[in-house]
Amino acid sequence: MPDDNLRIGVFVCECGVNIAATVDCDEATEFSKGLPGVVFAIKNKYTCSEPGQQEIKKMIVEHKLNKVVIASCTPRMHEPTFRHCVSEAGLNPYLMEMANIREQCSWVHSADKKRTTEKAKDIIKAAVARVRNLESQTEIEVPVTQRALVIGGGVAGMQEALDLADTGYPVYLVEKSPTIGGKMAQLDKVYPSMD
Ligand code: SF4
Repeated sequence: MPDDNLRIGVFVCECGVNIAATVDCDEATEFSKGLPGVVFAIKNKYTCSEPGQQEIKKMIVEHKLNKVVIASCTPRMHEPTFRHCVSEAGLNPYLMEMANIREQCSWVHSADKKRTTEKAKDIIKAAVARVRNLESQTEIEVPVTQRALVIGGGVAGMQEALDLADTGYPVYLVEKSPTIGGKMAQLDKVYPSMD
């Protein structure tokens, strides 16, 4: 997408005090407004809440946003939430990027609010840079062969093969050397049992 057509919206979440206590969210929001391609930025108290999500949808429509950055928590927690949210406003769900300013910032740096805020700004800046290059994606379904191939017959590979076999799938274990066991096969005792 040419830069002229970029209309990125940034939503900075306070997460109550989880983020706001150690990140100056007003400053981070103002900073976001100056990033290339950003046409809108706002702070929310709880972005994942129903009112928070309604606001995202409303702003996408009102400001004709075509890409979105949510500066909040880990994608592991709410990426599906926000993908669904932006798609309800008509945006491709893969044009949304999360900036983790909680687990990777406010929760691990509580001593110095100024420096924590600077780090949050850097994380948001990186997310905006990434979202600029994201393209729409289409989810497809492909048939899956219900068998597993484990490459490497060291301890990890053997354990993985056993775990997969326990779930009922046929497993093929491939090892390039004549014996399995990897480095473990060269040891005569292992800590802590010394077996
Ligand atoms: S989106 Fe994440 S950081 Fe924001 S309120 Fe919800 S849980 Fe907290």
